[in-house]
Amino acid sequence: MKEIVILGAGYAGLRAARELRGLPGARITLVNRHAFHYESTELHTVAAGTREPEVISFDIRQSMGPTVEFKQDSVTRIDPEQKKVFLQAGPVPLSYDYLVVALGFESEDFGIDGAREHAMPLVDIDSALAVRQHFEARLAGFKTTRDENDLRLIVCGAGFTSIELLGEFAYRMPSLIELHDLPKDKVQLIALESAPKLLPMFDAHLVDYAVGYLAARGVQIHTSTTIKKVVPGGVMSEDRTFDANTIIWTTGVRGSHVIADSGFVAKRNRVNVEPTLALKDHPEVFFIGDDSAVLDPAGGRPWPTTAQLAIAEATHAAANIKAHIAGKPIADFKFVSKGTVCSLGPSSGIAQLSGRGSMKFEGHGVAFLKKLVENGSLLEEAGFAKMLDNFS
Ligand code: NAD
Repeated sequence: MKEIVILGAGYAGLRAARELRGLPGARITLVNRHAFHYESTELHTVAAGTREPEVISFDIRQSMGPTVEFKQDSVTRIDPEQKKVFLQAGPVPLSYDYLVVALGFESEDFGIDGAREHAMPLVDIDSALAVRQHFEARLAGFKTTRDENDLRLIVCGAGFTSIELLGEFAYRMPSLIELHDLPKDKVQLIALESAPKLLPMFDAHLVDYAVGYLAARGVQIHTSTTIKKVVPGGVMSEDRTFDANTIIWTTGVRGSHVIADSGFVAKRNRVNVEPTLALKDHPEVFFIGDDSAVLDPAGGRPWPTTAQLAIAEATHAAANIKAHIAGKPIADFKFVSKGTVCSLGPSSGIAQLSGRGSMKFEGHGVAFLKKLVENGSLLEEAGFAKMLDNFS
């Protein structure tokens, strides 16, 4: 019996388990910190309060069925020499013949002073709910405090997560303003971005559309503004301090700390894998999703991490494990992106799809496209009813 252990039940781990379950002569063990999977590309909706956590999450055991052994526990360390995985609660380490590491991402603060202490990350359901509760409490409290910083929200960085979050907040603000009877002209949604231009992966006219859409809804984006320090109630650039009582940190992500704790050679906790997605010295150990750096031969740099890439890598790693067990040759990973979509609240967005030529979309309907392009996974993993929930 081959022991196949999969660490993490995000997009990548769940897909790998799905591809491998039922494999004759193999036992599949899936380990995850929570008993539920959540759609990490939709966390901004929970943070802004446009969706409840239940809508973007589902039970892992139920979706995997009986052919996958699910263990709810936190991975603390991997020992590739002993072929063992150590768990926080599990008293006995797991042994494996094949290992798939898909432990996902953590917030990257680049060591900026005060970021960890005074800004809120957006990395999982708990942190998304914390953002929502914190901001809503500040807005509700304004009638007592009269502190205008309670009406200000700063998002640090203006990458994908930030823009999608601001789009969602811009949509929600009118109802919050009405609910708490707030002075509309004093409410501010602000983003601080070090780069001179936003979202470089999109054509300029799509970026202009996104910026115009957000600006029309009161969002201020300060480009060429590098964050140097975060203090309680303020974010400092080289020459200015921006005040707000809600500060959210979205300047990028890195892979799981388990990678550093296990001593793997990695950059920002992303391990350089072979084109097969396995380690050079350990062909039985695969790193996928946000924990791996896979070279895009055309660009000469690792592919940027997305749900789409994670799912493709998981499918490939599972196929290579099956081939290896069967004594067949394993293959190199090839990736063709379907394109990129960025939502601007529930009813707008921008999209640049690949295919025959490049297709570009903006406005209404793009939020719907995002679900189709980024993760058809909800339909496959959790069923039709859950997918319909997600469209609501
Ligand atoms: P990101 O890398 O997309 O954006 C981070 C932004 O922060 C960048 O624009 C960067 O220039 C800026 N930044 C970094 N340090 C800064 C500083 N000191 N001061 C000011 N600005 C600074 O990261 P993210 O938004 O956290 O997203 C994480 C990953 O998830 C990315 O790889 C992203 O592509 C992916 N993602 C994709 C989607 C989608 O495809 N719809 C949605 C969300 C996230």
